[in-house]
Amino acid sequence: MRRKAFEIELLPVLADNYSYLLFDPDSGTSGVVDPGAAEPVRARLAELGRGLDLIFVTHHHADHTGGVVALQQEFGARILAARRDIARIPGFAPDRDLALGEGDEGSFGDVVFRVLETPGHTRGHVCYWFPGEEALFCGDTLFAMGCGRLLEGTAEEMWQSLGKLAALPPSTRVWCGHEYTLANGRFALTVDPDNAELAERVREVEALRAEGRPTVPSTLGLELRTNPFLRANDPAIRARLGMEAASEVEVFAELRRRKDRF
Ligand code: ZN
Ligand code: FE
Repeated sequence: MRRKAFEIELLPVLADNYSYLLFDPDSGTSGVVDPGAAEPVRARLAELGRGLDLIFVTHHHADHTGGVVALQQEFGARILAARRDIARIPGFAPDRDLALGEGDEGSFGDVVFRVLETPGHTRGHVCYWFPGEEALFCGDTLFAMGCGRLLEGTAEEMWQSLGKLAALPPSTRVWCGHEYTLANGRFALTVDPDNAELAERVREVEALRAEGRPTVPSTLGLELRTNPFLRANDPAIRARLGMEAASEVEVFAELRRRKDRF
């Protein structure tokens, strides 16, 4: 029997965060990624007439976990989070919830997902990849035309984490944790000004944001061509920074420093 399509719904929460509602119609399994606040999630689930089985957490920050405890209690949902960070995940109960690490596979109803450890933004950051759905939930590791700040990790760690994501199929949809795309795009143009596809993308993003519409998801292929934080090996960017002889990690670190001051 043919499967009904897996559903992913983007849900704006807080100032500029995105949570994602997931639904597998065949099994009736319902989930959420990074509920930074409970109320918008609860309201939308009520409209849809759904419960909540699984709460996916990419990392411990409050703007990604603020709704976890209330939603867990209301729906009896199971929390999924990084094994190396469970002490910092609000409400995580080892006897009830699921602690995950690199390469772990899980099932969301009839749909398989895989865990990628991506330290850098935080020590215990993980991403959730649904290969059959060509979907990646990457929290604050990879953004549209940007990447997360290095709050707990080194440039080396983040560059490796981004490399792990960059190796997924280019058709993978990138569902990231924030609507930072316009500011990221403006920065990207300062280090990659001759990239015609980047310039075109920034124009599209400006038009979407002018109408208050989300710029997410993008695809990994588009990120590989327009996101400077995946392009530390690009000759034009390296020349622009005067870092032709530097290592990729050094170029990435310089890009991140410049963005922090932008
Ligand atoms: Zn964060
Ligand atoms: Fe965040």
